[in-house]
Amino acid sequence: MSLTRTTCPYCGVGCGVLASADGTIQGDPDHPANFGRLCSKGAALGQTIDLDGRLLEPKIAGSNVSWDDALDLVAKKFSQAVAEHGPDSVAFYVSGQLLTEDYYVANKLMKGFIGSANIDTNSRLCMASSVAGHKRAFGSDTVPGTYADLEQADLIVLVGSNLAWCHPVLHQRIAAAKADRPEMRVINVDPRKTATSNLADIHLQIAPDGDVALFNGLLAHLADTQQMDMDYVTQHVNGFDAAVAAARHSDAADSGLSAADLAEFYALWSGTQKVVTVYSQGVNQSNSGTDKVNAILNCHLATGRIGKPGCGPFSVTGQPNAMGGREVGGLANMLANHLDLENPAHRDLVQSFWDAPVLCQTAGLKAIDLFEACASGQIKALWVMSTNPAVSLPDANAVADAIAKVPFVAVSDIMERTDTGDLADVLLPASGWGEKNGTVTNSERRISRQRAFMEAPEHARPDWQIICDVAAKMGWGAAFDYNGPEAIFAEYVALSQAAASFERDLDLSQFEGIDYEAMQPTQWPSNDHRFFADGGFFHSDRKAKMLPIAAPALTDHVGFRLNTGRNRDQWHTMTRTGKAPRLGAHLAEPYAQIHPQDAAELGVTNGDLLRLDNANGQTILRALISDQTARRQLFAPMHWTRQNSSRGWVNGLVPASTDPVSGQPALKAGYVAAQKF
Ligand code: SF4
Repeated sequence: MSLTRTTCPYCGVGCGVLASADGTIQGDPDHPANFGRLCSKGAALGQTIDLDGRLLEPKIAGSNVSWDDALDLVAKKFSQAVAEHGPDSVAFYVSGQLLTEDYYVANKLMKGFIGSANIDTNSRLCMASSVAGHKRAFGSDTVPGTYADLEQADLIVLVGSNLAWCHPVLHQRIAAAKADRPEMRVINVDPRKTATSNLADIHLQIAPDGDVALFNGLLAHLADTQQMDMDYVTQHVNGFDAAVAAARHSDAADSGLSAADLAEFYALWSGTQKVVTVYSQGVNQSNSGTDKVNAILNCHLATGRIGKPGCGPFSVTGQPNAMGGREVGGLANMLANHLDLENPAHRDLVQSFWDAPVLCQTAGLKAIDLFEACASGQIKALWVMSTNPAVSLPDANAVADAIAKVPFVAVSDIMERTDTGDLADVLLPASGWGEKNGTVTNSERRISRQRAFMEAPEHARPDWQIICDVAAKMGWGAAFDYNGPEAIFAEYVALSQAAASFERDLDLSQFEGIDYEAMQPTQWPSNDHRFFADGGFFHSDRKAKMLPIAAPALTDHVGFRLNTGRNRDQWHTMTRTGKAPRLGAHLAEPYAQIHPQDAAELGVTNGDLLRLDNANGQTILRALISDQTARRQLFAPMHWTRQNSSRGWVNGLVPASTDPVSGQPALKAGYVAAQKF
């Protein structure tokens, strides 16, 4: 059987896969993200492509209906809500699982034709703080480096990232580079010891949210010991003095690390030219997420350690297409193609390019606000695409209640039964991975094709087509008349070229007229391009900004700090990975990792049941006693839901608190009481 070149649908590493409909899966040896490697999840993709549990027909109120009837109802309800209550009475909540072409048309429909910016995405849960930090520092949402930098670095600092489980192929690449060059150093900064710490020379067991104190301490040390690159700062950076003054004001002891640990970290970082600081959800999913990002960026800007081989800050995204989504404007505070919603010239360009009847003028509702608007009655029609917010958002019981209050809810998904789908008036069957065509962008700005290698179920449709069908029924057929994802991609490229006169990082000119079917994995603006080694930032004066960052105030809390995260072999709410028996064998049931002394104080032995409670909810988890978790902290995976484990679901306990700049929820910052069950 012939193999089709496609891309893994799980994490932001974006590995190339060779796949066939009989379930044969291999790593693509020619894909520059993975060079043939796959992790356990990617290797088991062949076990996840059956039709078990699939949504196979459009449904209204639980009954099978024709596509025409389902689309008519969605279009009618959205049009009615807009006519009676205005454009901001409707909302889309979409997903980093969508392909770039799906995202593009969803964003076009909401922002350019309905006229609201109420389209947000579960990528808000993943990397919104990185986006906001990039924009504050660089004037653009730019990831400066490439994966090759990880192999060329002499020091890699992994902050708030369990790369070994969450981005395993990048972890494999670092491990291989370290084996080749044993002098390479790896530091893991994480409140919890993880599988990633095993690769590290040093594990710094930081206090939760101690990151700003740590990197402010580093910046102050760099200033005190005069180890900055003042030529780079003078030519390319604003805000240096204020940032250093704020850093000196900060107390590095608030990081929770000893003076000896801090001194060792500072000496290694400042004494190594080729440093990459990789960060992920431990940084982003925090009340101080954007400040953490900027505290890291400050250190790289002050030393000119950016944009050079083996150097730079590096945000790794959780979702397969978090990058593609933000490129085409899938967040409520962005326009398409890295154009700015708050810039009137950018808005005018997009409106005229789309020949749109109306363009949103202000930012829409970010994820948490969007569901609060559902609860308050503002939202009259909601369309959820390819995600399950009723279990995956913080304070998810309240989110489920909020969705239930919306007068009309449509859900498009590949699965029939999800907690969110169960609340829908209309279910729209989407085609899934292996059945549809499009593109995704990985964490190093590399656009790769997802290609179909098997037939979709008879009535399933790709998301871009469902969105365009609804747009047509709302009266905008001409603007959404695409004959396939290739035409959408071509329009996206053309918009980028139409916007070429604005100073932006996103340049897609090399994709003009490309043979879409034969497209090779390609980075924008060009392969192996790094940004900012010689300045060229995207603020109006082309300089970067260092920001004065204050460390968050430490507050006393009663109970255990609940750190939520992922298992090695599962993905999101297990709708796909849950089908592969060998993936379930790794950690088969919901658990809470707890420190031995805390377990002893609670009278809990390994394998006992633990009950966790707070004002948001309650859950029952198996106790996994381990000194990998610090005292008074618990770690619990987020994969189990109300449906797949009525008692093992943790996101119901996480309060809906967000970073004030990015709106990203602090998913690792719940507090719970724990007792033996
Ligand atoms: Fe898929 Fe990520 Fe694993 Fe690569 S590392 S195979 S993209 S889950």
